[in-house]
Amino acid sequence: MSSDVTAHATNEELAARAARVIPGGVNSPVRAFGSVGGTPRYFVSGRGAFVTDTEGREYVDLVGAWGPALLGHALPVAVEAVQQAVARGFGFGASAPAEVELCELIVAKLPDVEKVRLVSTGTEATMTAIRLARGATGRPLIIKFAGHYHGHSDGLLAAAGSGLATLALPGSAGVTAETAAQTIVLPYNDVPALERAFTEHGAQIAGAITEAAAANMGIVTPLPGFTARLLEIAHAHGALVITDEVLTGFRAGPTGYWGLERDQVPAQLRPDLFTFGKVVGGGLPLAAVGGRAEIMDLLAPLGPVYQGGTLSGNPIAATAGLATLRAADDAAYSRLAAAADALAAEVASALGAAGVAHRVQRAGTLFSVLFGDFPTPPLGYAEVQRQNTAQYGAFFHAMLDAGVSLPPSAYEAWFVSAAHDAAALERVVSALPAAARVAAV
Ligand code: PMP
Repeated sequence: MSSDVTAHATNEELAARAARVIPGGVNSPVRAFGSVGGTPRYFVSGRGAFVTDTEGREYVDLVGAWGPALLGHALPVAVEAVQQAVARGFGFGASAPAEVELCELIVAKLPDVEKVRLVSTGTEATMTAIRLARGATGRPLIIKFAGHYHGHSDGLLAAAGSGLATLALPGSAGVTAETAAQTIVLPYNDVPALERAFTEHGAQIAGAITEAAAANMGIVTPLPGFTARLLEIAHAHGALVITDEVLTGFRAGPTGYWGLERDQVPAQLRPDLFTFGKVVGGGLPLAAVGGRAEIMDLLAPLGPVYQGGTLSGNPIAATAGLATLRAADDAAYSRLAAAADALAAEVASALGAAGVAHRVQRAGTLFSVLFGDFPTPPLGYAEVQRQNTAQYGAFFHAMLDAGVSLPPSAYEAWFVSAAHDAAALERVVSALPAAARVAAV
């Protein structure tokens, strides 16, 4: 890989230049080393489980482009398909075959998704889902759970985990009080709080949005029965449930985290809408909202809920998503699961051996690592905020120095891929003991 890295500026030089022309030097806050300190790496290429920075240093990548790189970077079948699509033109602002095929594939894979609208980002997908819930019910209020991230639309930024948690921000400036007042933020996994909210405001609640499993405050899965109760209570009050699988979709398992829970939930209880992103676009800007046809058909041009996008369903992005989803077969998911199991076990063992208190949290093939004393699994945001982020920062930098790129925040999941083979895992495993000892100090 390093052979195609030619004379580039150093990481430091690029960071200094970026700071002059880009706020905070980054185009998305989670890329800054805000909570871990130090200089972000500027990556110039990636292949399989590895990424290479502008100085020609190779790292085992456990960020995976924040999720899309399910099968590893520069997946050859996707690269080839995208190159052919690029040569045919970048997009026409008219419909193209690839988007039809991608929507068909999503519908074929997911039993509760009858229709799909493609958008460009997860933020747009959740924003559209919320508008649909309000359009379908004629009601204003939305429930979200503390520590769940649904993108950066105004109404969904309260107690939103991810970048806000990393920066310890309660919400965002620039959101009007009126908008904030339309979102009810509840503690996750707290059925009595949910019941109270619906008892008090039921007639005004359009819907509840939930991550299928919370993955933006580290991993916090729904307690057994929680998703079913959420569906039951919301539906009893005529409100919709939006299951956000932007992060977990096609990753926590072949049919997302909901796919892992679905059989335990009574058949009459199904989410009304789903949102997807990341994997579904194979690393290019593409996301989706999908669900019951009756609700999806409320979207323009059929219905009164407006949504659109110049770049929506872009043929290159749709091609990347199609190639990725087609390549994500059972064997790939088995490799992914095996890599996640092996790595989670190795991290736990290294931290344990160094005497570092920690807890590994799992949601299917996703995992995250909490530093600190957590004798029982945390159920929500208040609890995970007790983690030792300074200890994580020390561990992060020791791993980075040893050639392993972890998420630069204690609040994020670790993304392995089906391309994390024995050689890639061995590199991580050999770096773990020393990093664990650094974290122990
Ligand atoms: N929902 C969830 C669950 C996410 O994890 C994210 C992004 N991490 C989003 C929505 C927003 O997606 P995007 O960054 O593509 O706007």
